[in-house]
Amino acid sequence: MQTRAAVLYEPNTPFVIETLDLEAPRAGEVLVKVAAAGVCHSDWHLVTGATQHPLPVVPGHEGAGIVQAVGEEVTQVQPGDHVILNWAPSCGHCFYCLHDRPSLCDTYLDPVWGGTMMDGTPRLSKDGAPIYHFCALACFAEYAVVPVESCVRVNKDVPSSVAALIGCAVTTGVGAVLNTAQVAPGSSVAVFGAGGVGLSTVLGARLAGADPVIAIDRVAPKENSARRLGATHFVGPGEDHIEAIRKLTGGRGADYVFDTTGVPAVQSACLDAVRPGGTVVLAGLAPMGSSTDLPGAVITRQEKTVSGTYYGSAHPARDFPHYADLYLRGKLDLDSLITRTYALDQINEAFADLLAGKLARGVIVM
Ligand SMILES: [Zn+2]
Ligand SMILES: [Zn+2]
Repeated sequence: MQTRAAVLYEPNTPFVIETLDLEAPRAGEVLVKVAAAGVCHSDWHLVTGATQHPLPVVPGHEGAGIVQAVGEEVTQVQPGDHVILNWAPSCGHCFYCLHDRPSLCDTYLDPVWGGTMMDGTPRLSKDGAPIYHFCALACFAEYAVVPVESCVRVNKDVPSSVAALIGCAVTTGVGAVLNTAQVAPGSSVAVFGAGGVGLSTVLGARLAGADPVIAIDRVAPKENSARRLGATHFVGPGEDHIEAIRKLTGGRGADYVFDTTGVPAVQSACLDAVRPGGTVVLAGLAPMGSSTDLPGAVITRQEKTVSGTYYGSAHPARDFPHYADLYLRGKLDLDSLITRTYALDQINEAFADLLAGKLARGVIVM
């Protein structure tokens, strides 16, 4: 069959909307009609080269849709199921899966970062030449063939644009708070960056009963969305971020500080913003090969903890339905995360808006 899709041919060039050939799902694979796909910075890292990947590639890793067909040996989902796509499929039997850390599963790392399905081959092509799949999902497209391990069934009452965000930003941000840091009620929390992941971290912090919840961003208009999603305070451009956070936390610094920007200088600032004995959680993806200068003397003497969090230390099969349920019960305001929606043909405009700081989250609706 064929599908329209957004293709990145070369770094630092616009996405091109193309009609591609898409093979039928093979054993262990699922054909999904994509309904919505979020516009996430991790896709932009492909454009800048901060994330290295085989090209040409169809990006899109924050998606939701409806199962159209299944390959052999697929019993977990069937046509008509609504699914959220998991960009970190896990095997269930490697060291990490057996030790309750499926977001660190290493079984599928090679094919996922090779841009293929689990058997090492892509299903997308144009004029016979292979086109690669980002995160084995490639959901900036009307249809996607994905591994069954990437499909998590979701309640059909959840709107597809909300379901898509659960597939990346929400799970990364809320999971960083609930799974990775396990923030206790009454804790003080500061969150650097008020994009999709940062605002989801704010949502998670409120859900955990944190107070104050301080959002920090270099774009002043982000204050509105940050406060709507539960930030008790906002520190904007032109302010001394560290001073402002200390002033709001008894002069000590916050109990927990989350970086959602992936900018090394901001990651360093997080260590200044956290109190002695507190925890810094790094959620934003820094460019591959970059490094961050963190003073070991301070970490030791002040017993500060620095932790990474990848995909919110998630168990997608457990966490996606949980977040969807919280949304349906009015406990997780995911509608307010969505600033606007775009058609697939508007994808370059959507990324321009993301880079201009205009979006909490933008969503491509197919
Ligand atoms: Zn993402
Ligand atoms: Zn595994």
